[in-house]
Amino acid sequence: MKLEDCKVDGSKKFKLSDHPTSAKVPKAERPAYEAETAQNNKRMSDLQERLYADGREGVVILLQAMDAAGKDSTIAHVMSGVNPQGVGVTSFKVPSKVEAGHDYFWRANVALPQRGYIEIFNRSYYEDVLVVRVDGLWHGYDMPKRCLDMDEQEFFDMRFEQIRNYEKALYQNGYRLIKIMLNVSRKEQKERFLARIDEPAKNWKFSAGDLGPRSKWPQYMAAFEDAIGKTSTPESPWYVIPADQKWYARALVSELVVKVLEEINPQFPEISDEDRAVMMKCREQLMAE
Ligand code: AMP
Ligand code: MG
Repeated sequence: MKLEDCKVDGSKKFKLSDHPTSAKVPKAERPAYEAETAQNNKRMSDLQERLYADGREGVVILLQAMDAAGKDSTIAHVMSGVNPQGVGVTSFKVPSKVEAGHDYFWRANVALPQRGYIEIFNRSYYEDVLVVRVDGLWHGYDMPKRCLDMDEQEFFDMRFEQIRNYEKALYQNGYRLIKIMLNVSRKEQKERFLARIDEPAKNWKFSAGDLGPRSKWPQYMAAFEDAIGKTSTPESPWYVIPADQKWYARALVSELVVKVLEEINPQFPEISDEDRAVMMKCREQLMAE
C-alpha cells in the first residue's frame, strides 16, 4: 500500500469501505518501517527549520479518528522529528461555555499557527460534523431558527460547504492543511480498550464514556464518510491512513508530512548584499580580537 492510495482529493466518489484499516504488513517488516519513520523524522527536522526561516507558510496537521486509533502516539512521534519551538498542539475537547458561545471555527482560528510554524490539531472543527451529528447535539444549539430549521442532511451539507470555504480561504492565505483520518477497525479498538483496562499503566487512558461512540460505530462511519467525501479538495485532501498497525500508520504519516513540507519547498531567506557586507565587517571585527 502506498501513501497515494490513502489520498482522497474529491476527484471520485469516496467510500470509506474502499479504505482498509490495515495494510496487513508482515510483522517481520516492522523494523524496516520504524527505520523509515526515523529517516522521515530527520528529513522533517531539516524541512521544519527551513519552514521557520522562510516564514511564509503555516502548516496545520489535523487528526481525526475514533478513540484509541493512535492520535496521541502519532502526535508524539511527529513531534519527536521537529524542534519543539516551531510546533504546537491543540486538543479540541467538549467546547467550554465560551467556545460554545462562538461559531465553531472560532477556537480553530485562535489555534492557527503563525506562518512558519506547524500546529497539530488533535481533533478539530470536524468534531462539529461528527460527534455533533451522531449525538444530535446541534438540535440543542442556542441559535436563531433560520440556522437550525432544516433536516439533518441539509444542516450538515451546509456545514461541509462552510468547511470547504474556510479551508479554501486558509489555503489562499498561506496555510497548508494536512488532514488525516486514522482508520482503525472496531476489532482493533476493542483490543486497545482491553489493554487500557488490563494494564495499570494504561488505565488513565480509558474512560467508560469511550464505549458510547463505540456503540454507535456505524453512525460514526457514516458521518466520517459523508464528511471526508464532501470536504476533500485538491488543495485540501484527506488522507485515510490504515491504523490497525500503529508502526505502519506512523511511517505513512511521517512520509505524508515530509511530502507536504517538500511541496512547500521552504527556502532559507537570501542575504542581501548590504547584510552580507555588514556580516563581513563583523567577521573582521571578531578576527581582530
Ligand atoms: P479526548 O480527545 O479523548 O480527550 O476527548 C475529547 C472529547 O471531546 C471527545 O469525546 C470529542 O468527541 C469531544 N468533542 C470535541 N469537540 C467537540 C464538539 N465540538 N462538540 C462536542 N464534543 C466534542
Ligand atoms: Mg478519549
